[in-house]
This record gives sequence, structure tokens and C-alpha cells, in this order.
Amino acid sequence: MNPSLKVTLVERSNKLLSKVKVSGGGRCNVTHACFDKVEMSKRYPRGANFVKKLFHSFFTNDTIAWFKERGVALKTEADGRMFPISDSSQTIIDCLLREADKYHVQIRMHCDIKSVQNSEEGFRLLTANNEELTASYVCIATGGFPKASMFDWLMQTGHSFSTPVPSLFTFNLPRHPITQLMGVSVPNALVKIAGSKLQQQGPVLITHWGLSGPGVLKLSAYAARELAERNWEFEAIINWLPDYNEQTLKEQFLHIRNENGSSLLYHKNPFGLPQRLWEFFCKNVIFPKPVAAQTCLPNLKMSW
Ligand SMILES: Cc1cc2nc3c(=O)[nH]c(=O)nc-3n(C[C@H](O)[C@H](O)[C@H](O)COP(=O)(O)OP(=O)(O)OC[C@H]3O[C@@H](n4cnc5c(N)ncnc54)[C@H](O)[C@@H]3O)c2cc1C
Repeated sequence: MNPSLKVTLVERSNKLLSKVKVSGGGRCNVTHACFDKVEMSKRYPRGANFVKKLFHSFFTNDTIAWFKERGVALKTEADGRMFPISDSSQTIIDCLLREADKYHVQIRMHCDIKSVQNSEEGFRLLTANNEELTASYVCIATGGFPKASMFDWLMQTGHSFSTPVPSLFTFNLPRHPITQLMGVSVPNALVKIAGSKLQQQGPVLITHWGLSGPGVLKLSAYAARELAERNWEFEAIINWLPDYNEQTLKEQFLHIRNENGSSLLYHKNPFGLPQRLWEFFCKNVIFPKPVAAQTCLPNLKMSW
């Protein structure tokens, strides 16, 4: 924004943009085809008010235009996610590095900043090698840290931090029988945290350790603080058929009984659920087996 400034980018590791490289499964989900600032801001757990303000300066259209002007076209997938047409996060990395190069941004690798101090001449930054750097302005973009203590050096600058907690995690169900259905997914399930109003809807995938998929990951992000407070021991209630209510479900069962009373429900799978999941439910309704709560993080008991 100000080409007369001399910019130095400091990176402690030996790689630049390594997280961008793995983002979006290696494709980099650059933005989302949402052009309503309020709607978009709601998708940021705990950050809605903050991002809403930022969106007035730079929003989805600006992101698309910014990359287009630099030769990177984005495409929109059916669910609204936007990726580079190359389907490679390297395209984004190359674009950002070209931009840095264009403005002669000096890049210093293996440079670990240990403290930032404000002095009369500006900021003094001390590296792990006891080298001192000075700057008129400092932009700190260290990403997140898993432990609160790792923010100490930044707290010394007078900033405050919220205690970090895990987010975007899958749910562990150690030894739960449903894990035998690993690989089975339901395109639209409603996942709730019992005893709270927290719920999210979306695809749910059964894995060999428990539950995953966007519906679960989204819920873990929105519920991150509450679940940390519960030490990740919680009960999730999954509605595998959120498009039905109790009344319409009963009507559907009644309809099957009237039309097809002589055949086994087990073979009918009337709701279009994956066959193995439907069979699992039928078996467990007939022979319910209690599942003991485990103590693995993050853990849950599941009921349906
Ligand atoms: C698996 C995965 C998939 C993702 N997919 C997507 C996606 O598709 N779309 C999306 O928008 N987001 C995605 N994200 C999130 C996205 O990658 C991050 O939000 C983004 O990288 C954050 O950027 P950042 O610059 O704030 O932090 P980071 O990318 O973490 O970069 C911070 C850098 O600062 C360096 N650093 C830290 N401390 C110091 C220090 N003291 N001195 C010097 N250097 C330091 C670190 O080494 C690091 O290189 C994904 C994340 C993961 C892990």
C-alpha cells in the first residue's frame, strides 16, 4: 500500500506459507462465494463483529478481483467454496511471493522473534540469535499458538489474548460400535451438543475413530469454548434425518406398514440413509447395547 516503505518479512521456520500449502486439502479454499457481509460474518465463530468491520474495507469481491488482477482466476464449487482454477495451493503461494518480490519485500528465514519492545526510535525486535532489528511499524502475524504461555512475549507489548482452545476437531468415540461403519457418510445430518443450544447441520462422516465431516468440524468450531470447559466430555445428539420431524417420520412408518406390512423394515431402508447405517439402527433398536463413556480427548457419548 505504501511502496516507499522498506518492508522486511521475518519467518522463524525454513518455509514460507507452509500452512497455505496444505490448506483446502492442497487446493487452498481462497474464499467463499458469499457476497453478503452480515451473512459471511456469521460464519466466523466468536469473530463476527470483528470481521464485519473488516469486510467494509475488503470483501469477497475484492479478494476475487485482487487475485484476478494478478493472473489467478478463482472458480466456485457447488457448495460455494472458491479455489484457484489450477486446484493447487501452489498457485496462491506463487502469486503471494511474486507480489512480495514486486515490492522488494526482504524475506528473512530462520529468524525467530523473541521479544518486541517499543522505544523512542520505534520498535526493537530481538531474535533468538540475539540480533536486534528496528522498525517504525510492526505487523505481528504469527498465526495461532496452542498454549497461552506461548503468547507471553506478545503480552509484554501490552496486548491481551484469549486463552487458546482446540477448534475444528473430529469427535472420538472409542470402541463405539458405530465406528464399524467407517467410511459411511450422510450428506445432511444435524449434530447437537446435549445440554446446550449448540448445533450445526451438514455432511457427517463415520470414521474408524468416531465422527468427522463438515457438520462435526463446524460444530467443534462454534462449540470450541464450551467443549473445552466440559473437558471435551460431552454427549452429541445426531439427527440423521433433519428434513423429517416426529410427525412426518411417524406418517412415513405408518405408510410403510399400511402399504408393505408383510416385508421386513430392515430391508426397506425407507429414508434413503446409507444401507449399512440403516441396518445398524435397526439392529441397535432391537438389541440396544449400552456404551460406556470413555475418557479420550475430545470425547463424547452419542445418542440418537
Ligand atoms: C490443514 C489446514 C487446512 C486449511 N485450509 C484452509 C483453507 O482451505 N482456506 C483457508 O482460508 N484457510 C485454511 N486453513 C487456515 C489457514 O491456513 C490459516 O488461517 C492461515 O494460514 C493463517 O495465516 P497466518 O499468517 O495468520 O498464520 P500462519 O499461516 O500460521 O503463519 C504464521 C507464520 O509465522 C511464523 N512465526 C510464528 N511465530 C514466529 C516468531 N516468533 N518469529 C518469526 N516467525 C514466527 C510461523 O512459523 C508461520 O510461518 C487451513 C489450515 C489448516 C491447518
